[in-house]
Amino acid sequence: MLYGNRFLTEDAPDGPFPATGMSALDAMRLVGEELAIEGDPNRNLATFVTTWMEPEAQRLIAENNYRNFIDHAEYPISAEIEQRCIRMLADLFNAPGETTGARTQGSSEAIMLGALSLKWKWKERREAAGLSIEKPNLVFGGDVHVVWEKFCRYFDVEPRIVPLQEGKYTIGPEDVEPHVDENTIGVAAVLGTTFTGHADDITGINDLLVGIKQDRELDVPIHVDGASGGFVWPFLYPHSEWDFRLEQVRSINASGHKFGLVYPGIGWLVFRSKEDLAEDLVFYENYLGKTDATFTLNFSTGASMLLAQYYNFVRLGHEGYAYIMKSMEANAKTLAEKLDGSGHFELIGADEEQLPLVAFKLRPGKDYDEFDLSWQLSAERGWMLPAYTMPPNAEDVKVLRALVKQTLSRAQINRLAEDIEEACAHLDKKGGVHAAERARIKRGPNY
Ligand SMILES: *Cc1c(COP(=O)(O)O)cnc(C)c1O
Repeated sequence: MLYGNRFLTEDAPDGPFPATGMSALDAMRLVGEELAIEGDPNRNLATFVTTWMEPEAQRLIAENNYRNFIDHAEYPISAEIEQRCIRMLADLFNAPGETTGARTQGSSEAIMLGALSLKWKWKERREAAGLSIEKPNLVFGGDVHVVWEKFCRYFDVEPRIVPLQEGKYTIGPEDVEPHVDENTIGVAAVLGTTFTGHADDITGINDLLVGIKQDRELDVPIHVDGASGGFVWPFLYPHSEWDFRLEQVRSINASGHKFGLVYPGIGWLVFRSKEDLAEDLVFYENYLGKTDATFTLNFSTGASMLLAQYYNFVRLGHEGYAYIMKSMEANAKTLAEKLDGSGHFELIGADEEQLPLVAFKLRPGKDYDEFDLSWQLSAERGWMLPAYTMPPNAEDVKVLRALVKQTLSRAQINRLAEDIEEACAHLDKKGGVHAAERARIKRGPNY
């Protein structure tokens, strides 16, 4: 065959287990050709996850994929590198002394483990006082990631969710207070919400809980979900207190594969101190001849992303991360100004501390909505710019959100802003895609 593989004219295997194999070249092309028409990560403004790493990091990753991170006995250096990263993060998050933590698959695993520790520590306190452990609850806002509700369902904890309102997309102490009682295992606060990129009022919530500790002798800890913000706030807003500088903050998670700038497959959980990790959750096992302490939900996993995270820490340092975060922030501001100046949009909270993104909505009085614009922009230019509705009780609010990452240069920002204006101009002329689509469906497909 001069070009390609036999799947140019045959369907790709997709059902029964293949009876026979194929050449390595055929297999590589089969997979590669299918993926070639998937979304282009460079035009993906939707994801928080890293889509670019420099060649030296890619080489490190490729050369270490065979290393199973969990085999601490065989790969003690990888294990030591995990500990180095945890110490560096504890320092970045202003831990007062010696800490502990874990490398995870992402923030979801880190949150499950962190929240389990909250539950176990609460049980310890209750049992020591001879009190019931029947009805644990966890307080958080509607601005959290779905993983928090998942935790509550999987691990039998009552979720006490503070609803959002139109114009108020984060929570503060006044929202938390009515929900806290003796069965509250903790409060989850978000640093950098997925919806608008803002932070809950963590200082305010801390003050409230310090007050409750003094007045009612209830020690209610905070877990900060810094999946995105954990690698942004220390560099853009170093004077904002949201981390272990606050007394009630006992654990923090961050996604290495978001603003930690590593490819998918790494997250972090860091405790304020060793005492904040419930000892019962640590498994001491004798595996392959050595006793090992593990605190994970997963077991085997590649060491590459951990090594890539350490690579980034030493390669960039505080200065390098700050430089990248500030560049993204400057480009996000430029995009925000252009969108604001176009007259089509309202920005959401652009003057508050925020992740490097632009959250915006259409001004009232248009014949089309945010979903139409998202669709139009994707059809015209291939940009993936998500539109979504806010969580309850702000579900009438539709939002567009553009992540402004390291790879989105000023030239691309300018092009994106022009493309958005053009898409608006087209929609102004023809009206909403959805409206037209609805009308077509009503008339019947054969019209
Ligand atoms: C992305 C995200 C998560 C989930 O993190 P993964 O690393 O994808 O598992 C949790 N919380 C927030 C606020 C997030 O942005």
